[in-house]
Amino acid sequence: MSSLEVVTVGDPILRERAREITLDELRAPATQRLIDDMIETKRDHAGAGIAANQVGLAVRIAVIEVEGDNPRYPYKPPFPLTVIVNPELEPLHEETVLVNEGCLSVPDLRGDVPRLVGVRVRSLDRRGEPQEHVVRGLTAGTFQHEIDHLDGILFLDRADPRSFATWEQFDRHGRDAFLERVAHLPR
Ligand code: ZN
Repeated sequence: MSSLEVVTVGDPILRERAREITLDELRAPATQRLIDDMIETKRDHAGAGIAANQVGLAVRIAVIEVEGDNPRYPYKPPFPLTVIVNPELEPLHEETVLVNEGCLSVPDLRGDVPRLVGVRVRSLDRRGEPQEHVVRGLTAGTFQHEIDHLDGILFLDRADPRSFATWEQFDRHGRDAFLERVAHLPR
């Protein structure tokens, strides 16, 4: 496994709709290696997730994982390593919450993004087997953030620009109010 370079905002690949991947492509050694490298890259940067177009390949694959001691997002509930391929997202209901987000492709910026509180995500796993995740709260936000990437959407597009803050200023001025706002969310 090797850690890949993460492309940053301004690179046109982040604005493309990534394409569906076929079962044959998914099972090919090069794609399996890409997935291993995405996992390594996500862990290397302490992200909660990463989409394939963030490492330069516009295909519908994303990796989600929140370790218990994630230094970037210590307040996020842990979530086991999950690879989603060709995901389809369906709201469980209409309720939304303002989630403060950052992104490996948008260095040193955070912002408040309205996210659905509960979603169902149908996808394939890395072997091509169908899987379904029903996720809530901040985990639902993480899934929406990664699937947005596959549609060429960044959290910047959905955020109130007046909420933008560097990580340092978020810690200083925004963190406590945010944690209070999401404390009631299902985990
Ligand atoms: Zn991101």
